[in-house]
Amino acid sequence: MKPAIADGHVVTIHYRLTLDDGSVADDSAGGEPLVFLQGSRNIVPGLERQLAGKKVGDKCDVVVPANEGYGEYDPAAEQSVPKNQFPPNTEITVGMAFQTKGRNNQPMSVWVRALKDDQVIITANHPMAGQRLNFSVEVLDVRRATADEKKHGHAHGPGGHHHH
Ligand code: ZN
Repeated sequence: MKPAIADGHVVTIHYRLTLDDGSVADDSAGGEPLVFLQGSRNIVPGLERQLAGKKVGDKCDVVVPANEGYGEYDPAAEQSVPKNQFPPNTEITVGMAFQTKGRNNQPMSVWVRALKDDQVIITANHPMAGQRLNFSVEVLDVRRATADEKKHGHAHGPGGHHHH
């Protein structure tokens, strides 16, 4: 008998993530299922919390508010940059992601949120920040994590070989 989902278990799910506008942001159907270590924040906190106690074969819809998902949208993480500061002949499109240097010259991932006249609005917010996440989940497997997995804080594939 497989255990119910609890901290310290490796969980395998298929899931579909739909945003409130009806768009499907992610769908594991037809591909590899998601394997994660419950209790180690491998997945957004609200999904982890609501999956606790679920069992193999369970199918459920899980609604995760932004603050338990990718966070609220932080306007302070948004910046307006003149287009002419980008390399010439660069086609700038909404949603485009790139690396820039943030405070202390640390590399920072940002993406283009909007284009306004000659300004490019870039943001360091997660692309799904501020969004409610509607998950449709099917639990495929639950097993106890190995000591190694617990130490690493994530699930290992069959054979336990992987790179960091
Ligand atoms: Zn590892």
